[in-house]
Amino acid sequence: MGLLSGKTALITGASKGIGRAIAIRYAQEGANVAFTYLSSVEKGQALENELAAFGIKAKGFKSDASNFAAADELVNAVVAEFGALDILINNAGITRDNLLMRMTEDAWDEVINVNLKSCFNTVKAATRTMMKAKAGSIINITSVVGIKGNAGQANYAASKSGIVGFTKSVALELGSRNIRCNAVAPGFIETEMTAVLDEKTVQGWRDAIPMRRGGQPEEVANACVFLGSDMSSYISGQVLQVDGAMLT
Ligand code: NAP
Repeated sequence: MGLLSGKTALITGASKGIGRAIAIRYAQEGANVAFTYLSSVEKGQALENELAAFGIKAKGFKSDASNFAAADELVNAVVAEFGALDILINNAGITRDNLLMRMTEDAWDEVINVNLKSCFNTVKAATRTMMKAKAGSIINITSVVGIKGNAGQANYAASKSGIVGFTKSVALELGSRNIRCNAVAPGFIETEMTAVLDEKTVQGWRDAIPMRRGGQPEEVANACVFLGSDMSSYISGQVLQVDGAMLT
């Protein structure tokens, strides 16, 4: 028996990086896994087969997390296909970095819509099913940048701070329905998102980490296993940092 046996999870943005690692760890722990992707269609389809090899039910959906109607359709499709939705992980995210003086309105709107509005979209849709079941665990992926801010990432930091406020509010509103809502705040994790940074920036991040290394996607995924499972049954409204003590 895995820590998540018998549970159904929906993970957004799982074609690569942290979302992919969460999907694999969830399958290893016995969860049935629905997940989304957007532009990485082949990677999304390959993941479906990889997950099914763990002997669980797995299905990928091409769905834009920033689109309210699409999120509603997605959740309906997942509940119809899997018959339940116990855990929702809002992981889909992007960066469009620039100094504020050069940041365009489009870059602001896109990041806020994909990173923050997406959480509202799926939580609105998923809580219908979770309220009926009188149980649920929602995990929103924020960032240490949402807590401390970061020059050149005003849009990203605002979206991630917004997730913290959203997470705490959902925990307060839905606690009486036995629905928990927590956030995970990764520090510097080695994925395609951080692979685009220049060596000087990367070294700057590493120097700021007391553990002297970047994190691996699996290390974030393990925190999501804990928060999705009954091991964390009395934990809600919290932000769990996975950052090698970068921000204390
Ligand atoms: P990544 O490797 O760039 O992967 C991002 C994922 O999000 C991809 O699967 C991508 O799917 C998906 N995605 C992007 N826009 C989407 C949309 N509109 N609809 C649906 N899916 C969408 O990034 P990552 O590093 O794994 O980051 C995952 C999450 O962790 C993000 O929320 C990020 O902000 C957060 N985070 C990352 C770090 C880090 O150091 N890496 C630190 C703190 C927080 P497609 O490729 O299929 O479009």
